[in-house]
Amino acid sequence: MTDICSQPALLSLSDALNRIQQALTPILGEESIILPHALGRLLSQPCYASFSLPAFPNSSMDGYALHSSDIQAQSFSLKQVGISWAGQPYTGTVNSGECIRIFTGAVLPSELDSVVMQEQVLDKDNVIYFPEKVQAQQNIRHIGEDIQAGDELLPASKNLTAIDLGLLAASGIYELKVKCQLRVAFFSTGDELTAIGTPLKAGQIYDSNRYTLNALLTHPCYSVTDLGVLADDKQLIKQTLLSASEEYDVIISTGGASVGDADFIKIILDEIGQVNFWKLALKPGKPLAFGHINQCAFFGLPGNPISVLATFQQVVTPALRALSGQETKSPLHIKARCKSPLYKQAGRQEFQRGIFKQTPTGEFEVISAGKQGSNILSSSSRANCYIVLSQEQGPVAINETVIVEPFTTLV
Ligand code: AMP
Ligand code: MG
Repeated sequence: MTDICSQPALLSLSDALNRIQQALTPILGEESIILPHALGRLLSQPCYASFSLPAFPNSSMDGYALHSSDIQAQSFSLKQVGISWAGQPYTGTVNSGECIRIFTGAVLPSELDSVVMQEQVLDKDNVIYFPEKVQAQQNIRHIGEDIQAGDELLPASKNLTAIDLGLLAASGIYELKVKCQLRVAFFSTGDELTAIGTPLKAGQIYDSNRYTLNALLTHPCYSVTDLGVLADDKQLIKQTLLSASEEYDVIISTGGASVGDADFIKIILDEIGQVNFWKLALKPGKPLAFGHINQCAFFGLPGNPISVLATFQQVVTPALRALSGQETKSPLHIKARCKSPLYKQAGRQEFQRGIFKQTPTGEFEVISAGKQGSNILSSSSRANCYIVLSQEQGPVAINETVIVEPFTTLV
């Protein structure tokens, strides 16, 4: 006799992530953009330096440039014969026994090889008095000490940071080839969902998931489209998914992914695409459908707001990174002493919301951020981390060591 209550084993998060990585191939395509739009984008080709940095020898100090052969063990003096300004080089010659005034970034004349800081000298009517023990060949920036002409400035796939943009600008590069943005569309489902601004009728709630999702998707590598709220209408959801699958690389929905009579997501995915997995050993976030509709990857997230948050970060984010060509990134895990007891049953991996801090002696401590229901928005709003509890873990007693995963983005 079969047990009608028996459930297929839930898929672990790590198995789900492996299946996702195997099922996805990064999108192709590159586009040209200009430097002011490049922050956070991924280079599609390496960038090379067409000239060296610095391009000319220059001073790293405001001071006086001289021949090192003029330096004496005791204090000595030299005649100042000119000035080299940043952007306005000195064009005359400097003979032995002479020096020039020089400022930071100004060209060092080719015959000179030492700069002495202005704080170390005395200027009396253009005769400059240098102290004893002046060091030769100091305070000079040499040609190519940063970058040599022909060097690779940045490799392909580099996720461009603020200083990368500075590096490219310093090298005179304004137009870049970057990987195309991943086209992501999302919608929520639910007959109870109402737009903010409309008075709530009995049983209605405001749709919060779309706002959370839109914020979570804000990233230079993604172009994001909000497809709105759909009623729990199987045909409507099916049509929306089919047409969106022609236009986007990824579709994300929230709600209707479970087993209720108004939950159509898994059934539709079975009908019009391929289900890769459904239901994870994860809390929050058990009912999560992943698969493909045509070439488009689809994530049917649960409806509860904190399930959306946790599944997006734990499951969808690695997938979006892989699809858009970003390198895989393991979350930062820190050991912390748990200062509040945690309720937990063995069975599912949990991402409880916590508040962690570093003590004055450098250790980490964490407490629960409060109620842990997947509908409770307020405790997640107060939290600054997940407390990551393994599938097998039972209740956590005060002072037990747990793993904390700090929130890295604005969650
Ligand atoms: P479901 O997965 O559709 O059964 O929804 C689970 C719970 O999440 C229900 O209490 C829903 O009312 C709630 N929910 C679903 N979608 C949203 C949404 N977009 N915003 C806020 N709550 C939602
Ligand atoms: Mg629903």
